[in-house]
Amino acid sequence: MKILIIGGGFSGMSAAIALRRSGHDVELVEIDAGWRSYGAGISLGGATLRAFRTLGILDEFLKHGNASDGVDIHLPTGQKIATLPTPRVAGPDVPGGGGVMRPVLARILADATRASGAQVQLGCTFESIEQDADGVDVSFSDGRRGRYDLVVGADGLHSKVRECVFPEAPVPRYVGQAVWRAVLPRPAELHTATMWVGPRIKVGVNPVSREEMYLFVTEDRALNERIEPAQFAPLLRGLLAGFSAPLVQQMREQLTDDNARIVYRPLDALLMPLPWHRGRVQLIGDAVHATTPHLASGACIGIEDALVLAEELQRHGNVAAACEAFETRRWERCRMVVENSGRLCEIEITGGDKEEHSRIMRESLMALAQAI
Ligand SMILES: Cc1cc2nc3c(=O)[nH]c(=O)nc-3n(C[C@H](O)[C@H](O)[C@H](O)COP(=O)(O)OP(=O)(O)OC[C@H]3O[C@@H](n4cnc5c(N)ncnc54)[C@H](O)[C@@H]3O)c2cc1C
Repeated sequence: MKILIIGGGFSGMSAAIALRRSGHDVELVEIDAGWRSYGAGISLGGATLRAFRTLGILDEFLKHGNASDGVDIHLPTGQKIATLPTPRVAGPDVPGGGGVMRPVLARILADATRASGAQVQLGCTFESIEQDADGVDVSFSDGRRGRYDLVVGADGLHSKVRECVFPEAPVPRYVGQAVWRAVLPRPAELHTATMWVGPRIKVGVNPVSREEMYLFVTEDRALNERIEPAQFAPLLRGLLAGFSAPLVQQMREQLTDDNARIVYRPLDALLMPLPWHRGRVQLIGDAVHATTPHLASGACIGIEDALVLAEELQRHGNVAAACEAFETRRWERCRMVVENSGRLCEIEITGGDKEEHSRIMRESLMALAQAI
């Protein structure tokens, strides 16, 4: 089949690799001429590492990122209260979780995308999508036109493909919480993802390599307002003030005004009801199921979408049956991630039941470990 992928994020690149492997003729268009990836680190569960293994990028990840078992949970004072188990989903030889810098993961996937033989057009997007029973005609911003058997919309939370093909679809919703992230040197004593849970603020770190870790801090904010970057360091230091744990205080001192690697991100969510395809246009990833990061699984479910779509196309050999089967397989898992993450976020915002919070975390991690 001749397949066009619109959007070269984690989901789109994974789709290009998986679909090329099944022998399809794949073209990927990415609007950003620099194919950049923003943000600090990203946390990955065992299911994500399993998807990396299937995609063939696990070894590169293990070389450039960090893999470890368990998530240590502490009180703000530093007293350890629990270790969340992270099952070794990718195999007995691979730890149950990990972290990596986003640009590093994006580079690994971009290299694999090019090596797969997919044609990549950067700084390019679609201008129109028109379909009939036998194919999809697409015109591009660089003046080209093409006809495809299938178009995959993987252009993220604010998807233009969704807007064009599903004008009635819901739009992303601000959830009332924001996340701060920063990149700092990794202390020798930090072995795995670690969190300090306060009454309203949650502080966490995750190693992203042998030398570095990333810090994440969730904060309730009723309104989605712009914050001046000059305010980033003082505001973030202020959020850490109530945490007396020595490692948190050490990080607080490192967050200086000229630390350019602080990122502030208000959180949105979106779960589009099925169907996620119309005719020969299929949406995947954040374009249909953008989750808050409470289960660190948004990238995971987007990458899994790519693997499952390629499998179902292989199995059915026809677009309509493959898209139906793809959505039947994906709905429950993606719904679970978006809705459980949303509930965790709500409990944090309202200072709700901590028992329910840890139960949802455990149950969701176990559900994610199931086969896709
Ligand atoms: C604060 C925060 C923290 C997170 N932390 C984690 C985490 O720890 N672990 C985890 O697994 N997930 C995490 N996520 C979720 C994860 O980042 C997303 O689920 C994932 O990046 C989605 O990938 P995607 O490829 O579907 O979309 P995107 O990453 O949004 O990629 C879309 C791509 O399409 C391109 N594009 C956009 N419009 C067009 C267009 N019109 N034409 C062509 N190209 C276009 C964009 O430039 C981009 O390259 C987090 C999210 C947030 C907001």
